[in-house]
This record gives sequence, structure tokens and C-alpha cells, in this order.
Amino acid sequence: MHYHEFFGNFGGRYVAEILRSPLEELEKGFLAAMEDVAFTSELEYHGKHFIGRPTPLLYAAEATRALGGSKIYIKLEGLANTGAHKINNALGQVLLASRLGKKRIIAETGAGQHGVATAAVCAKFGIPCRVYMGEIDMNRQRPNVFWMELFGAEVTPVYSGSKTLKDAVNEALRDWAESFSDTHYLLGSALGPSPYPDMVREFQSVIGREVKEQIGEEGLEVEAMVACVGGGSNAIGFFSPFLKFPEPRLVGVEAGGRGSGPGEHASRMNGRGRPGIVQGYKSLFLTDSDGQVLPTHSISAGLDYPGLGPQLADLGLSGRIEFTTASDSEALDALKFFAAREGIIFALESAHAAAAGMAIAGNGSRDKAVIINMSGRGDKDLVITAKALDETNWKSFLGSEAGAPEAGPPPGGAL
Ligand SMILES: *Cc1c(COP(=O)(O)O)cnc(C)c1O
Repeated sequence: MHYHEFFGNFGGRYVAEILRSPLEELEKGFLAAMEDVAFTSELEYHGKHFIGRPTPLLYAAEATRALGGSKIYIKLEGLANTGAHKINNALGQVLLASRLGKKRIIAETGAGQHGVATAAVCAKFGIPCRVYMGEIDMNRQRPNVFWMELFGAEVTPVYSGSKTLKDAVNEALRDWAESFSDTHYLLGSALGPSPYPDMVREFQSVIGREVKEQIGEEGLEVEAMVACVGGGSNAIGFFSPFLKFPEPRLVGVEAGGRGSGPGEHASRMNGRGRPGIVQGYKSLFLTDSDGQVLPTHSISAGLDYPGLGPQLADLGLSGRIEFTTASDSEALDALKFFAAREGIIFALESAHAAAAGMAIAGNGSRDKAVIINMSGRGDKDLVITAKALDETNWKSFLGSEAGAPEAGPPPGGAL
């Protein structure tokens, strides 16, 4: 494993003095754990039995036939417990925290997927867990709050600032500055102050290592690998074992949203983001000329983030990773395409990778493969997807759920 701290000009550890010592302790503990077979075997054991690894690499035969180009393969991270790749990182960090003697876990969450994965792992290992979540996100993502609480986590609303993800991160950092002697802060993507970008990449690189083995088993010649990019953890984990080689093409897909103006998308590459230092790390961010973070938009809550992981920003500028975008409507079309032909439902985030993968495969040669990372499954998006694709029936269903009298004797009956 290569430990970086800086990735070209990006990365670093730009934090208040008080957080230096817990970050140094975490770095030391992490590097030692990765060298210890007892730790890596335990991670592998629970990865297999609790998460369900290895996840399959599916040959999408019908989709391939329909597009007539390269063979499409899909890495099904959506089959992991809790429905997405986030649990790979949550498991790694919880095991590391226990090893470091921490008795309590805190986390931030935006859409709630990272919070659900963290709460699930904490339930499994009997560790108290508090998840900070913006008040607006709690209202938008009520089902995920429900699951977190079912797992026994305490979900704490954040009322400051925009009441969304970045404010939840600030609140988690505030908690950690007072509690680090017995508490681990479980950050959810490959960003933040060092060592988080390296650590999260390592825990997610299980995706890429499995793919590498599966490519060998299938004897594939790979043209391109495609992943969606929010903060960047599923992408960097998927790409990680391939970075040092010139091939295959590695393609990151950002949220094109509904337009190219400020607040209409969440694409930081290709000249849209500016270098800056936000929440402890240097990278490309969607900011105004004063360095203030701009609002973003995406149909997928997980790609709707103003900052890009520092390693991806560096590899994007150096050209090893290509970046493109898919719009809200392209993502929905890709979701429909694969549901109808392959019987799988992409998460809206992953559907961005599916859309870009379809375009690359459609123009590619038949003897090569294009591998799409399905970072998550789309069950969690029912409310948004059903509203976007079938609004009338969905609204009448919601109306009947909300307004229907309890099943039982008809009104005016003997009671
Ligand atoms: C959170 C999430 C993402 C975006 O996060 P990354 O750190 O960029 O991977 C993508 N897909 C799914 C399913 C998610 O839950």
C-alpha cells in the first residue's frame, strides 16, 4: 500500500491544532493494522460473511446485444449488505476503531447511505453510534433515518448553516475535537484530512481487487472501467489496482444534473471546480470567486457534493482518469434500460456510470469489455424514481397510504 498525504497539489491535513494528534494516532494505527495479518484476515472474514463478498461480475448479455458494441460487464456492489459499497469502508473503520480501543463511533451522513452502513456495522459489533445529519436531509431521507434508528444509532439533527451534509461534517468534527480519546470519527468518502483519503481508498479497493481477479477468470480484454464520482470512494476503490498501468481507460462520471449553470450540477472536473481548502483538505470544489461553497444539484443524493476526493482530482488533472458527466435524464434512461434488459436496478448514483458506460460500449469493439461499477442498488430511490417515471400512479398510491383509514371494521360499524 502507498500512503500519500498529498496527491500532487491536493490532499493534506488542514485542520485546527486540536485535531492533529487524533489524526496522527489514526494514521499510525491504520498503517500498522494494514501490515497485521490478524487485522486483514478479520476484515476479509466479515467482508465475506456479513457484507456478502465477493460481489459478482455480471455479464450483461442482453444489454450488450442491444447496443451492438463492447461486452458490458457490471460489478454488483449493490448486492452488498445495506445495498451499496459504503459498508466496505464502514466495516474497515469500525474494526480499526476497536483495535485502537475506541468505545464510540460518530459519523456524518447526507443522503443517509453512509449513516445506514455505519449504523449496521456498529449494531453488528455492539458499538454505540451517533450519526450527524442536517435537518433538511433528515426530512428528505426519512426512510434512512428509520433504518439507522432500527439499527440502534442515535441520529442527531444539525440545525446550523444550510442544514445539509457539510454542516453535518462540521458538527461531527466539533464532537470529535472533544471526544477523540474514546471516539472514532468514521468519515464516509475518500476525502477529508489525511489519512482519510488513503484509508477509505484502501478499504474500498477490495472492489478493484475482486474485479482484477474476475477479469482473469473470464479472460477479458478490458477497454474501459466506469464509475460514478460523488466524493469518489467507489471510483477510487474500483480503479485502485489499475492506476499504475496505462490501460484500461478509467472513466469517472460526475453529476451533470439539469444544466451547466451554478447550482444546476455537481461536476468539479473539466474546468468547473476551483482549487480550494474546505473541511481539512485541498482539492477542487464548486465555489464562487470568494471561495464560498456553491449549491449543487443532482437527481442522485450521493453525487450531490461540492468537493472531489484529492487523489481523483490529481489523477483527473494528470489524465490517468478521464472525467465525463451524465445528466439526470440520462441516468434515468440508463436505469430503465438495464432494468428492462438485465433485471437489475441501478442506484441513481450508479446509473450515471451506467449511462456513460453504455455510450463507451456502444462505440467500442466487440472483442473488448467495458466494466461498469454498480456502486449501489436502486431500491432506496423508489420515492424519487417512481415520481420521475410514473408520477400519477405514484401520487395516487401515496395519497391512499396517507389518507386510508386503518383496515378493520368499516366506519359506522358496531364499535
Ligand atoms: C454515496 C454513494 C455514492 C457516492 O459516493 P462516492 O464516495 O463517490 O462513492 C455513489 N453510489 C452510491 C450507491 C452511494 O450510496
